[in-house]
Amino acid sequence: MQVKAPRGTYDIMPDEIYKWHQLEQIIRTTAETFGYAEIRTPIFEHTELFERGVGDTTDIVSKEMYTFLDRSNRSLTLRPENTASCVRAFIEHSVAGGVLPVKWYYMGPMFRYDRPQAGRYRQFHQFGVEAFGSDNPALDAEVISLVLEILANLGLQEYELHLNSVGCPECRELYRQQLISHIRPVKDKLCTDCQTRFEKNPLRVLDCKVASCQEAIAGFPNMYDYLCPGCSKHYSRVQSILTDVGIAYIHDNQLVRGLDYYTNTAFEIMIPLIGAQSAVAGGGRYNGLVKECGGPQMPGIGFAMGLERLLLAMNSQENSRTNPGQLDVFLALLDEKNETRAAHILSGLRRAGIRADRDYNHRSAKAQMKYADKMGARLVLLLGEDEIQKGVVTIRDMQTRQQSEVSNEALIAAIKAILE
Ligand code: AMP
Repeated sequence: MQVKAPRGTYDIMPDEIYKWHQLEQIIRTTAETFGYAEIRTPIFEHTELFERGVGDTTDIVSKEMYTFLDRSNRSLTLRPENTASCVRAFIEHSVAGGVLPVKWYYMGPMFRYDRPQAGRYRQFHQFGVEAFGSDNPALDAEVISLVLEILANLGLQEYELHLNSVGCPECRELYRQQLISHIRPVKDKLCTDCQTRFEKNPLRVLDCKVASCQEAIAGFPNMYDYLCPGCSKHYSRVQSILTDVGIAYIHDNQLVRGLDYYTNTAFEIMIPLIGAQSAVAGGGRYNGLVKECGGPQMPGIGFAMGLERLLLAMNSQENSRTNPGQLDVFLALLDEKNETRAAHILSGLRRAGIRADRDYNHRSAKAQMKYADKMGARLVLLLGEDEIQKGVVTIRDMQTRQQSEVSNEALIAAIKAILE
């Protein structure tokens, strides 16, 4: 029986990879212009890290992790997200003792046992940032504007920014009690998930996607009315900075993060045109997370964005991405006697940074042209007996269909001039 890729995973084939390279390049460059440096953490971690850092009441930890025992019976988990690992690295390398804030970005595969559908996979890719060491609302606004700058640089204009504040553990506790009192009388009308989680984590009921849950809790109290003076001031500041820099947002009092280490700002970015899985990025402040994971009290803020969903959005609109092809130059060998000469030319081209290849299968001249075209080569070099005798190479431009003879010495400069 043929073995296929596991459900929820997929191959990125070489003829699609240019889209990923372009996406990754734009994201990296944009993040670096905002002063973020890349961190790469392991793909697997001790399971306990995610239980603490993501929270064992979350769907991710309770239902979606790829957890396994290694040969020494340690419980390890393929990372379902990257924030917990960044926090672990921050603590493990005593980064708090250095100059703060530190601004990190990451990009790579994450793993969740999710229900696969368009825009939802079991191995998917995230780009994200974490900034540790400042509680300044200007940093919240900067993190949000980084997401929007990335979208703009990718040519994605149509998005919605949802914004909320989840307060701090003190003011949220009061709100929690109010919310529980509001929900308790209608508890029987909630979905089974909400019925089990509402006492422990009532905020999660607010963002439940089941319509009957939303009907049942209509008229629920608003977190905004319960923010303490400090949290209220922080949220106003974030809002006014965003307004000052011309960023439009929707205040969304159902955008919540149910765990205690999330504080103040929460945000999400949707691109409605990509369909049901329209959330492309989500993030917020987590002033309690570093401490929760065993480090010092340390403010932090970050977000993660899904690369598959960005690609979906880019594919669903007009854009000018073109496949740069695999090759710049294809060397057509018209006579086997010319092997040595061909080898010299090829190594010269490659050393000059020109993507070059040749025929290995003794194909006809016509078949070699076809192959060169398929590989996206702009130029074909023809090397036959005639050329060898004259000490030249014939360059054929596959775009203009023009041919010219160039001396061996002038070859690389001539090719560079055309490619540029
Ligand atoms: P989260 O870490 O759950 O806040 O997700 C952040 C972003 O990652 C989301 O807005 C999505 O764009 C993306 N994402 C999360 N889960 C998946 C998944 N299973 N497949 C593809 N993208 C995902």
